[in-house]
Amino acid sequence: MKGRAILNYDKMGIKEKRELLLEDPTENYVSYEESKYKINAFFIHLNNTDECYRERMVSFIPMLPLFHNDEVRMEEADYILYCHPYARCEDVSHVAIKELNYIDSLRKPGAEIIVVGKAANAEKLLNGSIKNITFWMSHFTEKLGEKFGLNIKEQYFVWDDEEEHLAIWPVDGCLQKCYFCRRSYMHIPFESLSLESIKRELDYIRKTEPYKLRNISLRAENLTEYGIDIYGKQCLHKLIELIDSYEEVEKIKIPIGLCIGEVTEDIKNALCKSKKIKSVALNLEAASDRLLKVIGKKHTVQQAITLFSALRETHPDLYISSNVMLGLPTETMTDVFALAELIGITQPNFVLCNYYSWAPKHPIANLPQLSESLREYHLKIFLKHLRCTFRKDLDVTHEKIFKRKYSRTAIREKEEIRIYNEDSDFPAIIEDYTSYRIITE
Ligand code: SF4
Repeated sequence: MKGRAILNYDKMGIKEKRELLLEDPTENYVSYEESKYKINAFFIHLNNTDECYRERMVSFIPMLPLFHNDEVRMEEADYILYCHPYARCEDVSHVAIKELNYIDSLRKPGAEIIVVGKAANAEKLLNGSIKNITFWMSHFTEKLGEKFGLNIKEQYFVWDDEEEHLAIWPVDGCLQKCYFCRRSYMHIPFESLSLESIKRELDYIRKTEPYKLRNISLRAENLTEYGIDIYGKQCLHKLIELIDSYEEVEKIKIPIGLCIGEVTEDIKNALCKSKKIKSVALNLEAASDRLLKVIGKKHTVQQAITLFSALRETHPDLYISSNVMLGLPTETMTDVFALAELIGITQPNFVLCNYYSWAPKHPIANLPQLSESLREYHLKIFLKHLRCTFRKDLDVTHEKIFKRKYSRTAIREKEEIRIYNEDSDFPAIIEDYTSYRIITE
């Protein structure tokens, strides 16, 4: 339907906007005579399927009004926009390089390629081999708005009508370089919003649409480092206190971004003090100080136990989720048992068990790696030990990776298991279903 994307944009909810972002772009367009710019955004739509919640909400959805020219073929476009989740889970930078070279081979003379977001890390790898190309890693929505005369920019406070929460991203980036994380080889700028600007925005929402303050989802890749760039020290506790002070706020969820090793006494006290905090994510990752050191995590096992029990003591009903990893280099069966036992001690409500994904640029890439069969065996023993020892309901999601024989594609599948032990003789898998995504190798 011609013009639908643009005409109703302001009235659309998040669900529709999200669909619009992922939809086949040829389905939604207005004729490009309405704009003086011929822009192709095919790869923004295509590669957004693997983008994270933050990137979509903060940057790509606000960018939608720019995409009404999608009927412009790549060969005809004056500007070709490109993004790629780039090493979000695996290092697939070679896919970004391949796609950029493909665009370069297709575009007409003089057309500009604009690479936005984390894919701008490809600049180093391309090493000047593609000309007339611009790389914008941060504030790219705002920069595109300025370039094409649109009033669009990043949104750090987003009302998600599907989730019924106000998502707030007070900080972008992480100053750590855990040895299994893309942070160890990628550059992502670090930037916090000031407490004053956050207060201004919250005051405005309270005045105009106070119901949006009811459920807050406080998120970032590393929330614990909030404020370092502005105030020279971690200030997450002040931010929690600020949000907590609004009487309209009933619930605060922190589903991502607390780094156990960076939770200071002030942050711990603020987390324990707020009666509105209903869920947090605290990633244990591994369960021996030796292995935590191997992967470059800042915390010790004892620190994790102390933090979990402090939170449990003050918030008995707190929902705690935790990521752990199996298949880490040098991992032994002792580490596997220790991991199951640490889960028993810390008592999270949900565990996401990831396999370590090897990438050549990881600092741990050259350590002895586990074979796939040994990794599978470690998972089996881990789940078995959990079922035998865990004393309450626990949801566990773990990964399965299959490689197809005739194509260079790996399927990463997630299996969800409900572990419930009324007594240790009756361990059971109650629920078992799968979801998957495809990684092009
Ligand atoms: S704290 Fe999290 S985001 Fe930062 S480097 Fe470690 S794993 Fe990556």
